[in-house]
Amino acid sequence: MSAPVEHGLYIVATPIGNLGDLSHRAEEILAAADIILVEDSRVTGKLLNYIGKKKKMMVYNDHKGAAERQEILAAIGCKIVALVSDAGTPLISDPGYKLVREAQAAGAYVTTIPGPSAAIAALTLSGLPSDRFLFEGFLPSKTKARSEVLAELAPIKTTLIFYENGARLGGMLADTLAVLGDRPAAVIREITKKFEETVTGDLSELAERYAGEKPKGEIVVVVGPPLAEDAASISDIEAALRTALERLPASKAAGEVARTYGVDRKQLYELTNRWKAESQQ
Ligand code: SAM
Repeated sequence: MSAPVEHGLYIVATPIGNLGDLSHRAEEILAAADIILVEDSRVTGKLLNYIGKKKKMMVYNDHKGAAERQEILAAIGCKIVALVSDAGTPLISDPGYKLVREAQAAGAYVTTIPGPSAAIAALTLSGLPSDRFLFEGFLPSKTKARSEVLAELAPIKTTLIFYENGARLGGMLADTLAVLGDRPAAVIREITKKFEETVTGDLSELAERYAGEKPKGEIVVVVGPPLAEDAASISDIEAALRTALERLPASKAAGEVARTYGVDRKQLYELTNRWKAESQQ
C-alpha cells in the first residue's frame, strides 16, 4: 500500500496526447487529491474519467483575485491540492508560478510530479543539438513584435524552442527566417497522438512548405543554433555599425544598418549607447 499523501501543493504533469503517458505517481496524487486546480474542468474531467475518479475541481489562473488566492492557499495548508494544466507540465507556458511562490512563502509543502512537456518531447525529436537550448514559449502573433523578440534571440548560440499553432505557423517561420537567417529547424506536430509528425529542414524550406498551409493540431518549432557564418555576420553588423557611426549620428546609423541587415533598429541603437558608455569609463 502507498504511504499516506501529505497536505500541500502537488504540481502534476499530465499527458500531452497519449493518456498512457500518465505516470503512476501522477495517478496516485490525482486519486488522493481533495481539490484539483485546473485550466479547464472539461479537459481534466476526461483525464479523471480515464482513471475512474470524480474530484472537486477549481479553475486556476495566475490572475486570480486576492480572496480566491487566499482560499486556495488556505486549502493547500490543510488539504491535498493538485495543480494540473490541460496538457503537459503546469507552469510551462501555463499558469502556476505565482501560486507556487506564494505557497512556498506561506511555508506549505510544495512538490512536483514530473512528466511530459511538449517542449522537451519536441527537442528530443528535432535532431538538433540538445546540450544547450532556450525555451521561448509562444512568440507574439504580429510580425513587428515577433521580429523584435526574434532579434533579441538572434545572437543566442543555443537551440531555440517555440510553441505555435497551425494558423500562425507560416508567418512565424517567414519572420524567423527573415531575422535569424537560414538555420536547420524542425516542425513537430501532435506529439504522442495518432498524427504525430516531425518535419525537418532548413528554415527556408520549412517557410516555403508552410507558406500556404495551416496544419492541424498542436505544434512545436525547434530552430538550431546560429551556423558559424551567421556568427560571423553578427560581427559584420557590428563592424557596419561602427563604420556608419563615423559619418552619422547614432540613431541614423542604427536605422541604416538595421535596414541593410534586416535587424532590429532599437537594439542597434542600444548597442551604440553601450559603446558610448564604455568609451567614457
Ligand atoms: N504546459 C504544456 C507543456 O508542458 O507542454 C504546454 C502548454 S501550452 C499552453 C500549449 C502548447 O504546447 C501548444 O500550443 C503546442 O505548441 C504545445 N503542445 C502541447 N501538446 C502538444 C503536442 N502533443 N504536440 C505538439 N505540441 C504540443
